Amino acid sequence: MDSTGKYFISVVIPFYNEEESLVELYSRLTSMLQQFSQGHELIFVDDGSTDGSLSIVSTLREKDRRVKVIAFNRNYGKSPALSQGFAAARGDLVVTIDADLQDDPDEIPGMVALLDEGYDLISGWKLNRKDPITKTLPSKVFNFFASLITGIKLHDINCGLKVYRKEVVKRIKVYGELHRVIPVLAGWEGFRISEKEVTHSERKYGKSKYGAKRFLNGIFDLMTVMFITRRSTTPMHFFGRIAFLFLSTGGLINLYFLLQWVFGKGLHVRPLMVVGLIMIVISIQIGSIGLLAELYSSNIERVFSYRKYEIDD
Ligand code: UDP
Ligand code: MG
Repeated sequence: MDSTGKYFISVVIPFYNEEESLVELYSRLTSMLQQFSQGHELIFVDDGSTDGSLSIVSTLREKDRRVKVIAFNRNYGKSPALSQGFAAARGDLVVTIDADLQDDPDEIPGMVALLDEGYDLISGWKLNRKDPITKTLPSKVFNFFASLITGIKLHDINCGLKVYRKEVVKRIKVYGELHRVIPVLAGWEGFRISEKEVTHSERKYGKSKYGAKRFLNGIFDLMTVMFITRRSTTPMHFFGRIAFLFLSTGGLINLYFLLQWVFGKGLHVRPLMVVGLIMIVISIQIGSIGLLAELYSSNIERVFSYRKYEIDD
């Protein structure tokens, strides 16, 4: 491994009721990182666990100060947990890994090696995923659409195991449930992304916190992200198009009735006329939403990511 010992690595581990797995995960990560990294820290983020998880990581910290602990007062979700871990991370590289031992810490060196080939984010790809079909199938569909719509060509966009350069995690805003679409957020910022096949194990202890019912939420999140990344600076380009379509169709319909009236053919309320009027009303509403979005957008402070920013002598 040509990258041995080059990096200080922060591992961010979000967990929610994973008491059976934490000690084993700690030992496996520690023994791998002691050989592989220049130094490391393990940031355990307790997402409001109600079992013994917090006292387990607290005990680990008493023995080993490389263990950092952030504990939420209640269950906020994996995205807020990750984002707190990202804020605290001090490493050159930041790794995220699930706490349930489904991801293998020994995949990390290989992912770092790929990162060294010139990427900012390496996402794991659970080629041989060990989860029930009720999870794997919706996830396949989600990944297919995600890569189609976003143009980010990954097989497994929501893999918990990822390796990032520090700049990426300090930059992206992971809130709500956007952890599912992190590569899209990073890709939009111009970061270079690739994926690496990783082994995956069945969940040995506890139960999954995410079921198939999250599938629909995933689709909404995808839409949100597409809108935020592509349209937040030019909302009127989006809303304006829709408003224009409605206005011109409704306008043409009613122009037709106007001409009938002008040429003395009489005027009766007909279904088509109502449709035309409704379309005009809708177009005003959608156009106004676009203007409100513009108003909001004009007040956001713009932040950019730079490849270089050298402006003093
Ligand atoms: N997790 C979390 N907060 C939550 C739900 C899950 O921090 O509200 C953690 C969980 O403990 C695990 C990781 O996120 O470390 C992935 O969750 P899970 O294994 O349940 O998802 P799955 O692998 O079944 O998709
Ligand atoms: Mg899991």
